[in-house]
Order: sequence, then C-alpha cells, then structure tokens
Amino acid sequence: MDAIILLGAPGAGKGTIADLVKEKSGYLHVSTGDMLRAAVKAQTAVGLKAKSFMEAGELVPDEVIIGIVRERMAQGGQDEKYMFDGFPRTLEQARLLDAVMEEAGSRVSRVFLLEASKELLVSRISGRRICRNCGAVYHVQNIPPQVEGVCDSCGGELYQRKDDSEETVLNRLEVYKKQTAALIDYYDAKSILLRLDASQPKEVTQARILEVLSRS
Ligand code: AMP
Repeated sequence: MDAIILLGAPGAGKGTIADLVKEKSGYLHVSTGDMLRAAVKAQTAVGLKAKSFMEAGELVPDEVIIGIVRERMAQGGQDEKYMFDGFPRTLEQARLLDAVMEEAGSRVSRVFLLEASKELLVSRISGRRICRNCGAVYHVQNIPPQVEGVCDSCGGELYQRKDDSEETVLNRLEVYKKQTAALIDYYDAKSILLRLDASQPKEVTQARILEVLSRS
C-alpha cells in the first residue's frame, strides 16, 4: 500500500492535478470533498451531518472524515496506491492516516504542496464550474468547456458549487490557514514535502509530480 497527498488551499488545483496524474500513475484519486458531496446528494447519514459545515465553508468534524476514509481504505487491497486530495486537513486526520498506513506496514511517501497567491486562489475558485454528472472540473476562463454550461466529456450540466460563492471562499481560505496549513510543517519535518508553484500551467505540475513518482 502506498499513499501520496496533494496539499494546498482551496483553488490551488488539487482536483485538476489529481485527475491528470491518476491517468498516468495508477494512483487511486480519493477526494473527501467529492465523497462528502456525493453523500449530501444521496442524503446519507454522513451527508446530513456534513451539509451545514460544507455550506459554511467550515471543516466537517474529524470523526466523520476519519470514518469515511477508513471505510474507503478498507475496500482497497494491500497493493492499493492512494492519492489523497483535500485530506488530511487537520493534524488529527494526518495522525490517523499515519496510523492506518502503519497498520498496513507502509507510510505516506510524498506530500505535494501546491502553492499559490490569495488572488489566484480566489479567481480560480470563483470561476470554477463542475459537471453535475461526472464531476469534471472547468473554469470559465482557464479551462472553458467547448459549449458553455455543458461538460465536454459526458454532456452533463455544469454548475457552480454553493461553497465557491465569494462570501464562503474567503472563510474557506481562513480555515485553511488556521487548521490545515500546520500540516506543511508536519510533513516537512518528515522530509516528504515537495513544494510546487501552482500558478504554473497544470501540465508542468503534472509532469513534475510524475517525474518524482517515477523515481520513488
Ligand atoms: P473540497 O472539495 O476538498 O474543497 O471540500 C469541500 C468541503 O468539504 C470543505 O470546505 C469541507 O467543508 C469539507 N471537507 C472535505 N474534505 C474534508 C476534510 N478532510 N476534513 C474536513 N472537512 C472536509
């Protein structure tokens, strides 16, 4: 079992990069945000617990997150390679992940930190559009679909996430600074953190990550 992490503020491009990297690396993309949105849509117990936190741009309580990640990892085999996006977001979650990896005789091997200025993060988030059907991510200026409002890959309808609205975005960036940024030091101390400039074209970031993964 192996695990790598894409770390970075909302809007840094974690989901976009994960989509590009997974196709060429064999890593399984695990996004807790996507899992929670699916749970909210299906109105499961987890979804009902998570909804109000997500809409306010706050973190969903650790025990809920830990529950869904444990369940997801229990489905994977011994050889599974996980690429986490949006997880862990607190020290408690990071410690839990370390414990699960240790139980499996492995460890988190790499953490890629996607760094970008606040202006870039806000512009990326406010222009972001998502396919209601397949979850593909677009941006009105940077990654426009061929036909406005329609997904290129499946024809689904594109929408703006409620928590991508301007008032919630600023809170999400604050929450990142207060609760998630501490993970940078946590992983740096383990010498597994690699900093990447997230303002570069996504293909450059993808190539750099693939190169690092091919060496390890
Ligand atoms: P994301 O799609 O990663 O931006 O996540 C959207 C929202 O889901 C976040 O603003 C949180 O409310 C919630 N969320 C996703 N992942 C986590 C996590 N690891 N810990 C706590 N809350 C999370």
